[in-house]
Amino acid sequence: MTNEELWKAVLGEMELSLTRANFITWFKNTTIVARDHSSIVVSVPNGFIKEWLENKFNRKILQSIRGLTPEIREIKYSIGKPRVDFVRQDISRIILEKELEEKTNIVSIDTDVDHLTNLNKRYSFDSFVSGSSNEMAYAACLSVTKNLGKIYNPLFIYGNVGLGKTHLIQAVGNKVAENKEKKVLYLQAERFTAQIVEAIMNRTIEDLKSQYEKVDLLILDDVQFIAGKVKAQEIIFATFNELYGRNKQIILSSDRPPAAIPTLEERLRSRFEGGMIADVGVPELETRLAILKQKLIGKNVDLGEETLSYIATHMQKNIRELEGALNRVVAFTQIYNKVPELKEVKNILNTYLSTPYKKTSPQVILKAVADFYNISAADLIKRSRKKEVVRPRQVAMFLLRDETKLSFPEIGQKLGGRDHSTVIHACEKIRNESAIDEPLKQELTLIKERVYNSFDK
Ligand code: ADP
Ligand code: MG
Repeated sequence: MTNEELWKAVLGEMELSLTRANFITWFKNTTIVARDHSSIVVSVPNGFIKEWLENKFNRKILQSIRGLTPEIREIKYSIGKPRVDFVRQDISRIILEKELEEKTNIVSIDTDVDHLTNLNKRYSFDSFVSGSSNEMAYAACLSVTKNLGKIYNPLFIYGNVGLGKTHLIQAVGNKVAENKEKKVLYLQAERFTAQIVEAIMNRTIEDLKSQYEKVDLLILDDVQFIAGKVKAQEIIFATFNELYGRNKQIILSSDRPPAAIPTLEERLRSRFEGGMIADVGVPELETRLAILKQKLIGKNVDLGEETLSYIATHMQKNIRELEGALNRVVAFTQIYNKVPELKEVKNILNTYLSTPYKKTSPQVILKAVADFYNISAADLIKRSRKKEVVRPRQVAMFLLRDETKLSFPEIGQKLGGRDHSTVIHACEKIRNESAIDEPLKQELTLIKERVYNSFDK
């Protein structure tokens, strides 16, 4: 085995056990630069990465290397000018593009995003597979493109995460934007809220409002995030009335129907409910299969029916994850230069399914923390500053940050509408303390065990 092959194999294994973001952070531009009978030298881009690989990943890397070349007993890491590893970069890019782009809080590195509209060109009606789970939302979206501002206004699309809301509402935006005279603006509600806060600070709120009011189509994604944000709701209300009064189209999305968004002002709720509400649900097998095929268009890999139907059968709840699983399998074909057998596909998906952040949810974490400290989950969310709940709450924030993909503001939201700076502070505190405080470290481990074991049932 050449050094290159050996390292590729190691990377392949490491990748399966880490989140994409982590994998790329720690392993980008690493390579084996020297090897003798019992040791290898891995070149890494900087001291920070060197330290992490030595302290956190060395055992795993060694294990993986020894699986292939048992005589190796030691790995040294050296900071060096990396020889850029094109294969890895390519794979990382494929996975990154597909998977990270939709995560609400990761700054998009996607060049497909239009700077004026914020729309991603890849979200089109053509690339959207419709089936009975999303039929109505799909039809409503299509008809909005043909009757802008006239029939379903506002159009409110709701459904669980990863079921195609963003794709659908951006498809409307892209379709409408084909007409150069139409001004379209897509905003994540979180981003919208941040813009408002910033504008208030800079005293440019009137400019901002007039910008929103100039559009023909305003798309606000994930409006559940404005819950509890008084100022943002006020601006949305004003913008809404202004646009609505002039027959300009508004499209909203949320993870739940308007009536189920807590602390949403009544007047806003009734506006949201005043148009058309449609939901997207979990797609049935046939649709999932069609989606996989749709995602493979242009990828130039033929995985075979058996593999596709295996993936579709095992990834049921979330299309983003369905797509993530597919990307793993596609990445395999690129790393190993062959189409995986079903056995290998099973392996890939098994590791994928047991990757922590894929499997847990904020609810599970909150419950595990509450159970562990013998308080109720409601206590974590309440305003109380009692010592018995303050600490568990900080631990919950820390774990939510580490084990899920939630942003600091989202975590604050989940924990009773706390400010993101509070969350950042808590996370840092627990992270620092757990580095030196052995009992705390143990606690965290035990809670995590509960979090992940609760899924085995
Ligand atoms: P949501 O906004 O509901 O969380 P997204 O719109 O971000 O979900 O969808 C997650 C991923 O799944 C995206 O890559 C999207 O393209 C894909 N997807 C979801 N539904 C479909 C569908 N019906 N056809 C094709 N791709 C879909
Ligand atoms: Mg979305």
